[in-house]
Amino acid sequence: MNIILFGPPGAGKGTQSQQLKEKYGLTYLSTGDILREEMAAETEIGKKVKDIISKGGLVSDEIVVSIIKGRVGANLKSAGFLFDGFPRTVKQAEMLDEIMKGFSLKINAVLSLEVPEDILIARMLERGKTSGRADDNIDSIRHRFVEYKEKTAPVLDYYKKQGNLIGINGVGEISEIFNNLCKEIDNIR
Ligand code: ADP
Repeated sequence: MNIILFGPPGAGKGTQSQQLKEKYGLTYLSTGDILREEMAAETEIGKKVKDIISKGGLVSDEIVVSIIKGRVGANLKSAGFLFDGFPRTVKQAEMLDEIMKGFSLKINAVLSLEVPEDILIARMLERGKTSGRADDNIDSIRHRFVEYKEKTAPVLDYYKKQGNLIGINGVGEISEIFNNLCKEIDNIR
């Protein structure tokens, strides 16, 4: 079972993913986390993406797709994958389909957390007080929304056309949202 947890910046994908991967035994792939690890380790990739990420821009499709391809290929025995923060462009979505096909796998569901923008901004500013993330400041947050609307939101249509898109209310108690996600996952299993 392979799932994409989709949503705008600050929607709670990371929080929900932690519980989902435990419950369903999925291999968790967050491109944001992986890129932050690359930056912390000061790898070639890390150095390349540092400026873009701190300003709230999107890293190139080539970089994130090659990371995902490597991680999927290295975990083929896993019960399934949980993608967080990927795909973020239609090109990435197309390439993910190719990668999955190459391994005789497919995406079973795209769970989209829906949260109004004013709540998202408030959450991220709050997180910025403790996250230590260079991109949790108001200028970078605004730029992340511009990128989201322009490049990431069209990914929703891509999966709607495939019949894979499931909307989930992302406002409320963390446990309540988790239960709603689980209900949908149990439905498709
Ligand atoms: P959030 O969803 O809160 O914005 P993420 O951890 O998912 O946080 O991503 C942080 C940053 O990492 C993004 O703003 C972007 O610069 C980069 N990034 C993560 N995933 C991708 C991706 N799939 N494509 C391009 N850039 C990405």
